[in-house]
Amino acid sequence: MNEFILFFKKILDYICVKKCVACSELLEFDYDGFLCPKCAEEWDEAKRTVCDRCFKMHSKCRCSFGRQYVDGMRHLALYDHTDRDWVVNKIVYALKKSNADDVFEFVAREMIDNLIDKNTLDNAVFAGIPRSPKSVRKYGYDHAKKLAKKLAEITGCEYIDALGHRGGEAEQKTLNKSQRALNAKENCYLKDKAIPKINGKTVFLVDDIATTGAMTGICAEVLHKNGASKVFCLLAAKNKLQKKT
Ligand SMILES: [Zn+2]
Ligand SMILES: [Zn+2]
Repeated sequence: MNEFILFFKKILDYICVKKCVACSELLEFDYDGFLCPKCAEEWDEAKRTVCDRCFKMHSKCRCSFGRQYVDGMRHLALYDHTDRDWVVNKIVYALKKSNADDVFEFVAREMIDNLIDKNTLDNAVFAGIPRSPKSVRKYGYDHAKKLAKKLAEITGCEYIDALGHRGGEAEQKTLNKSQRALNAKENCYLKDKAIPKINGKTVFLVDDIATTGAMTGICAEVLHKNGASKVFCLLAAKNKLQKKT
């Protein structure tokens, strides 16, 4: 490579800042991939670890939280709240806080490659599990809906802004199990305009992480009761604490 090209490439590197979606390390502008080599290795390892109930790789695990209306719950890897440096945690944080398009594209593509049965896409729509208005104000966007939109865009399916949150202030993570169920039931609702669009459809319900799956269960219930034929939940990660299936 001659000096001029090298110089030009350096300028391009500077302008087109490309970062690892997990650790934010700067990458060469023509670097092929969303993760730096170290994070890519850790991410592959995270996907290869097995579920401690079904002993399948996490991306192959279909253990649900026993939610009656959820036809399947699928996740890419395990979130570990005890390890701040775990690559899965970094990716979940990036979804929640960075609002960078690369992060959403990376997770959406991982979900499409690992979690979605392509035959189901013919009749599928995507929707996000709604955040509370307080959370949307705090972060400036609803990351589950943004991820659902990205999945719809890449697969060519329709995104539906189907579910709303009534704005109860209690955060799911601060409540116990029965309070979570009640809080989810009080807050989640289906938007009227979405009803004809979900009728007879497979709905992929998207979220970043599930702890008990209370909100997922309620969302799936309202979708099923209003005509959805199947409801599959797609998660970036499942919480390590969750043992029950
Ligand atoms: Zn990295
Ligand atoms: Zn499992």
